[in-house]
Amino acid sequence: MTQLELINKLVDEKADDAKNLAKQIWSFAELPYTETRSAELLINALEKEGFKIERNVANIPTCFTATFVSGSGKPVVGFLAEYDALDGLSQKAGCPVQDPISAGAPGHGCGHNLLGAGCYSAAVALKDYLAQEKIDGTVIFFGCPAEEGAGSKQFMARAGVFDNVDFAYTWHPGFVNEVQSKGSVAIIGANFTFDGIASHAGSTPYLGRSALDATELMNVGVNYLREHMIDAARIHYAYSDSGGTAPNVVPNHTVIKYEVRAPKVDQMQELFGRVVNIAKGAALMTETKMQYEITMAFSDYVPNKTLAPIVDECLKEVGAPKWTEEDYALALEFLRTYNKTTLKTIKEGLLDYYTHDELDEVLEKPLDSVVHPFNKYENTYNSGSTDVGDVGYATPTVTLNIATACLGNVGHSWQNTAFSGSDIGMKGMLTAAKVLALSAIRTMEQPELIEAAKKELKIKNGGKYTCPLPDYVMPPIGKY
Ligand SMILES: [Zn+2]
Repeated sequence: MTQLELINKLVDEKADDAKNLAKQIWSFAELPYTETRSAELLINALEKEGFKIERNVANIPTCFTATFVSGSGKPVVGFLAEYDALDGLSQKAGCPVQDPISAGAPGHGCGHNLLGAGCYSAAVALKDYLAQEKIDGTVIFFGCPAEEGAGSKQFMARAGVFDNVDFAYTWHPGFVNEVQSKGSVAIIGANFTFDGIASHAGSTPYLGRSALDATELMNVGVNYLREHMIDAARIHYAYSDSGGTAPNVVPNHTVIKYEVRAPKVDQMQELFGRVVNIAKGAALMTETKMQYEITMAFSDYVPNKTLAPIVDECLKEVGAPKWTEEDYALALEFLRTYNKTTLKTIKEGLLDYYTHDELDEVLEKPLDSVVHPFNKYENTYNSGSTDVGDVGYATPTVTLNIATACLGNVGHSWQNTAFSGSDIGMKGMLTAAKVLALSAIRTMEQPELIEAAKKELKIKNGGKYTCPLPDYVMPPIGKY
């Protein structure tokens, strides 16, 4: 039996366990830092498989590690699992018409139920392989909550959780099969609070100092800043307290949440400093007081280019998920839920993967049935962000994407929730598990590549992980 056949067998034998986990986590749909039932479910399943559990990692109640040691315990392999849901994205599984299970309730619109259960399946298969073949090594399943919130992996990295890990692999549910060549950008989030003086807006407005004016002037200032920042940067904001609902009172207190993204951590920090200056200017103009508190930050993600080709080879070996005619038909129904403008954008995006000619044909059966090659020369970034980036500054890290949804499917959507609970999602998840387990084995067999990967890491991080958050920022449990 080849290694591939053995891994396929090990994953397939316990496929029902992984699918049940994915379906249950999908139905719990727990928001960041509140993934108590999802974490407990994974903990119990991993304990049953002989993993040793450590809870409350990095002082986050739903963060845990599950470790299995074989022989000398070297090398140490990590799989990065997530299991948090998104607010407002409730939707029936596999249903191509918007129909929430509970209107406005959370749903797995980013597929983290598949991500977590897929890593479970990979960790168990690798554990079974090491035990059966009597091979040395350690498998660590990292239970990482709140990726959609303020994250956990940067706190875990800051606590040294990845210090003795030789390499970490993970995956993300997507619409194509690829080892991700592009990076993702760094992000920082902060709350800006303005305090002024309340007053009667009709009779004594001159006695008032408006916190709302300050906030609006800050937003205007940031809008002017946009012309003078790098193209790849993003700044977005949302009011968390707009100062009340009474126009006849001068608002004396506002809170606005800002997020600043840029390809590299230093670019992100520099740009954030400029946003803070604008906030100071707004306070000066309005004679209000401004305070800001950093609430979250992720480092940029760049794949480890020494290890990515190994994962790429394994992905080619395992191959794309095998879709049925029913799968294709359902995927087509989902694709048709998007309006013309969105479909146009979807098609443009898919030109990264298919030529114009290929695209028309592929979109007749819109589930990715091929493997797209890793491009080691890729040097651009997706404009999203992930706390996987921080793991990538602590240990050599690679992410792969596997199709669990129709081609071009929009992330963080009800369609994505539907796919994440469907058979299409489950097929993608099991494919991911096989690639992750096989890649881990192949990497473990090549200690010289692990060393080369660590050298690459050292050039990137200067020898140690540096957290993009100030030391005072703790995981915002219960307040994010
Ligand atoms: Zn996600």
